[in-house]
Amino acid sequence: MVRSPIQTSEGKTHQARELDALVIGAGFSGLYQLLCLRDRLGLSVQVLEAGAGVGGTWYWNRYPGARCDSESHSYCYSFSPELTQEWEWSERYPGPPEILRYLNHVADRFDLKRDIRFNTRVTAAHYDETANRWRVSTEAGETFTTQFLITAVGCLSSANVPNIPGLDAFEGQWYHTGQWPHEDVDFRGKRVGLVGTGSTGIQAAPVIAETAAHLVVFQRTANYSVPARNAPLTTEFKRYIKENAEEIRQVMHSTVNGHPFRIVDRSALETPPKERQALYEAAWATGGLRFRATFRDLLTDNAANETAADFIRAKIREIVKDPETADILSDFDHPYAAKRPPIDTDYFETFNRDNVKLVDVRATPIEEITPRGIRTRDAEYPLDIIVFATGFDGMTGSLLRMDIRGHDGLSLARAWAAGPRNYLGLQVAGFPNMFTVTGPGSPSVLCNMPVAIEQHVEWITDCIAYMRANGLERIEATDESMDEWVAQVNAAAEATVLPQAKHSWYLGANIPGKPRVFMPYAGGMAHYRKICDDVAARNYEGFTLSAARVSDAANKRFN
Ligand SMILES: Cc1cc2nc3c(=O)[nH]c(=O)nc-3n(C[C@H](O)[C@H](O)[C@H](O)COP(=O)(O)OP(=O)(O)OC[C@H]3O[C@@H](n4cnc5c(N)ncnc54)[C@H](O)[C@@H]3O)c2cc1C
Repeated sequence: MVRSPIQTSEGKTHQARELDALVIGAGFSGLYQLLCLRDRLGLSVQVLEAGAGVGGTWYWNRYPGARCDSESHSYCYSFSPELTQEWEWSERYPGPPEILRYLNHVADRFDLKRDIRFNTRVTAAHYDETANRWRVSTEAGETFTTQFLITAVGCLSSANVPNIPGLDAFEGQWYHTGQWPHEDVDFRGKRVGLVGTGSTGIQAAPVIAETAAHLVVFQRTANYSVPARNAPLTTEFKRYIKENAEEIRQVMHSTVNGHPFRIVDRSALETPPKERQALYEAAWATGGLRFRATFRDLLTDNAANETAADFIRAKIREIVKDPETADILSDFDHPYAAKRPPIDTDYFETFNRDNVKLVDVRATPIEEITPRGIRTRDAEYPLDIIVFATGFDGMTGSLLRMDIRGHDGLSLARAWAAGPRNYLGLQVAGFPNMFTVTGPGSPSVLCNMPVAIEQHVEWITDCIAYMRANGLERIEATDESMDEWVAQVNAAAEATVLPQAKHSWYLGANIPGKPRVFMPYAGGMAHYRKICDDVAARNYEGFTLSAARVSDAANKRFN
């Protein structure tokens, strides 16, 4: 790695590390991006990671009950047949320890850690037009310069602690599930308040209830959930995974959401009610996200969706003994799966326990946190521990927490003041040579994410390889391509029931002041892959590629 002197704003000179590519984040995305750029293209690459280890989501989210919703044999890389053959998952849905073991195995197997700097938070990245390089600064005051900047910062990595008055004065302990301590939190004998009933709250509640003296669950939005039916993998299934690895990969690459099963090509509305009920019962018994794949029209037709909603409502009423609690749990305000669809282990059953209470904070909003607990409009709940399962500033949070500036000092925050705008979810006009892995505008969180991540990382790698092969130094999305892509992202969302969930983080609705824009691309992973491949095949149509700096007379416009 080369070092060159950098003049800081305070006039001091220090050494900057010069790189071909700098990757921010060492989760699934950052690890694979490092491997591709370093080992396939031979670039000098540095990964900077805020955490003390690899793993991203699974490094930070160690809350009780944390588990993957994707099935283990699909929640992994598929780029290396050897890796697929040598790794063995133990359960249908792995928890953080097992996923971390896997990602550490990958990092060690491909000798990645030597190029990852841990405990290093990036605070700023500024594009220097004249040099055609990004200058990246860390919290500790280090500087790196790089031609390519790749953000692999995660869609769900910016914890959202709600701004409830009084939290500072709370005399107990409080935690956010996305920043969980690495040592165990002891709930024994404690009165615990759990705020939030998204996927995380639904996973955590049953486990906390097992040891806490008392658990109060504060629910704003009633959420659909389907049993996960987690279990150890059988020997036969483990063999099936190995023997059919390539076929499983093909399925994941050709479905709309990257899972290892296809959505059944049958309409809920055209299926006679008795048969439909039997199919839902079978899907409920199988468990997991496969429930969503029972019919093809659940996400595109409200009436079809309502048949799934009715079925889940009836299940909740069957499971939960107290009718009033069952009513609150099933008072849905959005279509099934329009928010991230949770899967659970005994979530609804938990409300039959004597030590668990449900509070409907839509009816009686939380007004403040007192030194003793949480006070809603009509009661105060004394608590020793508060757990915020309130999610993340999704998709854009981690990007906008850095001071990213492109042309003429244009900040990403300003460019996205009305919501994220980019081309293919990969690049923003005004920010040359910067790529966003699983950025807004890509399928990302609507997909089994390792599939989306591998596709993005490989596309970026191929793009840089193409540039190198053709003597090109700079790539930037055009404004026009960005406008067209934003229109496509909106149209894809409007063709589904997804935007109807008005309180969804897909829309940014969980963050006060965040523009309401449906962020992920809902047109399906397989279709999206084809669009990206076609763009590449047409010499990166929609991007401007140039041989050197924009100011150079030799600037060569390719499109
Ligand atoms: C509880 C939970 C459950 C999930 N379950 C599933 C599931 O079942 N299936 C699925 O497909 N997806 C799931 N996801 C989504 C999950 O985030 C992705 O599957 C995947 O882990 C994302 O990998 P990534 O590398 O893109 O991002 P992340 O894993 O989020 O890693 C990003 C890394 O970037 C680092 N970083 C961010 N900003 C900076 C900065 N400024 N400087 C330095 N480092 C920085 C972070 O510390 C983090 O380590 C889940 C997410 C959560 C939170």
